Amino acid sequence: MAEKKSRGIPTSPGVAIAPAFLFVAEESSIEAVPKGTPDAEWKRLQQALGSARKEIGLLYERALERLGEEQASIFKAHQMFLADPTLLNQVESAIREGRSAAEAWKETIEEQAAMLESLNDPVFSARAVDLRDVGDRVLRIIGGQKTTADLPGEPSIIVAQELTPSQTILLPKDLVRGFCTVQGSRTSHVAILARGLGLPAVVGVPEEFLQAAKTGETMILDGEDGMVILSPSQETVANYLSRANALEKKWQEARLSGGKPAVTPDSRRIEIGANLGGGGREEALQALELGAEGIGLLRTEFLYMERYTPPDEEEQIAAYAPYIEAMAGRPIIFRTADIGGDKALPYLHLAAEANPFLGKRGLRLSLANQDLFHTQLRAILRAGANAAGIKIMFPMVASIDEVQAAKAHLEAVRRSLEDDGLPYAKNVEAGIMVEIPSAAILADVLAPEVDFFSIGTNDLSQYTMAADRTHPDVGKMADAFHPAVLRLIKQVVEAAHKAGVWVGICGELAGDSLATPVLLGLGVDELSMAPQSIPNVKAKVRAWNYSDAQTLADKVLALDRPETVRNKIKEA
Ligand code: PEP
Ligand code: MG
Repeated sequence: MAEKKSRGIPTSPGVAIAPAFLFVAEESSIEAVPKGTPDAEWKRLQQALGSARKEIGLLYERALERLGEEQASIFKAHQMFLADPTLLNQVESAIREGRSAAEAWKETIEEQAAMLESLNDPVFSARAVDLRDVGDRVLRIIGGQKTTADLPGEPSIIVAQELTPSQTILLPKDLVRGFCTVQGSRTSHVAILARGLGLPAVVGVPEEFLQAAKTGETMILDGEDGMVILSPSQETVANYLSRANALEKKWQEARLSGGKPAVTPDSRRIEIGANLGGGGREEALQALELGAEGIGLLRTEFLYMERYTPPDEEEQIAAYAPYIEAMAGRPIIFRTADIGGDKALPYLHLAAEANPFLGKRGLRLSLANQDLFHTQLRAILRAGANAAGIKIMFPMVASIDEVQAAKAHLEAVRRSLEDDGLPYAKNVEAGIMVEIPSAAILADVLAPEVDFFSIGTNDLSQYTMAADRTHPDVGKMADAFHPAVLRLIKQVVEAAHKAGVWVGICGELAGDSLATPVLLGLGVDELSMAPQSIPNVKAKVRAWNYSDAQTLADKVLALDRPETVRNKIKEA
């Protein structure tokens, strides 16, 4: 078979050579299923229910392992639908009246889901979604179609149109060698997840590539330059094998000195943090092993997703404790939940929004849901009662009013803990994410209000360029190497330092070692990134004089576009 080459956006470094695995969910179709006698149809349904039960059982096991009981329980609920006597009686009656198993099942599920929805209660509406999900799985099984739970059984490169967070979470980590998607950008979920797992990823590949790929076909994926190749020749495979080995060697070397601090030859030290969220103790220990000096961004939203009720104070304390224990006094920045917008949470009664990224998200949502906000602030302060280094950070800040309101809530929570006589973390630094252009432009106004800034270059790029970071076509415009974004970073650092406030970067740019000399030269104090990126970034800091980095930063700020910025850095 001839070699087929294509190119996408490289979003997580490394090279993978493995069979492709097409992660596809075809539309379920009931027409294709021939009809038998009522007895045969009832039997066909029973068999499908049995298979569905097994599949969901597997999903439950995986979710339990990765997410814990609370969140895995969604799959328990899915299994309960399969055994619901009311539902099954109704399906059996329809089959005895002459319907095929597929028709009877589909009609019954639809009727029950519609009934649940008509109750106008978010919890029941979410159940309707789950019921349809289970219903669809059974229909696919009856029709002999692939179910969404079809997962690779051997080491593979996942090839997909797109991957949602809940799909990626269920992939067998140990069998995935890389990700290749048509949708997505450098800062999409799959890209962040891939970097977190230390796996190469290429997004934004042409649709034709997906159409041409077959499960089992040998594939090469180069997360450094975006190249993807199907059915490579022996010579190509040999070339990429030696490239993969060279990259691995370089990474291992950087890793060996990962424990040492990131200090330039002319003695400028940069704090190096890890971006974590969801993996608990194991994730925190791995970050330390790779050289993290703390957690620069704990994305707490993992606690709020894929469930029907918000996590209560005790559950949150239990979820934060492993991070605090593992870090043993090193800094941890707890970012309050950055939820809302495109992340629908049934228990929050969120209205659909025409522009989720411009809607009720992050701090806006916390300020509008005081109970939710206070519960989280109480949990963070209580979890950190006996620890040092606890910091709180508010996401999606656009105005000084929001900062002051957030601080007032934090103060109210401190008082409530005093009143309750509960131990809690004192001397907690409070900071904000600078990820909306207004906050960057008014950094001098906001700086006196906070203890630190952390620049979220993922959102700062999308809002500066007015380009949805997840959009398949315009997502590439949200490029943090754009001089427009870099100039904002410079402005933020200058304003912060004038006010005696330190500045970190926790967007994906911080983990891109190509950007390291520029960020160093712009004067940032801290960089926080996916743990796998730490060794290379630390090595880069050690290789650059601060003074040379400053000269480079001045030069790139005068350039006109991201490509020229990248080229200038490579030249240097
Ligand atoms: C960012 O926007 O750069 C950031 C770190 O936050 P998130 O990617 O979680 O939106
Ligand atoms: Mg953000």
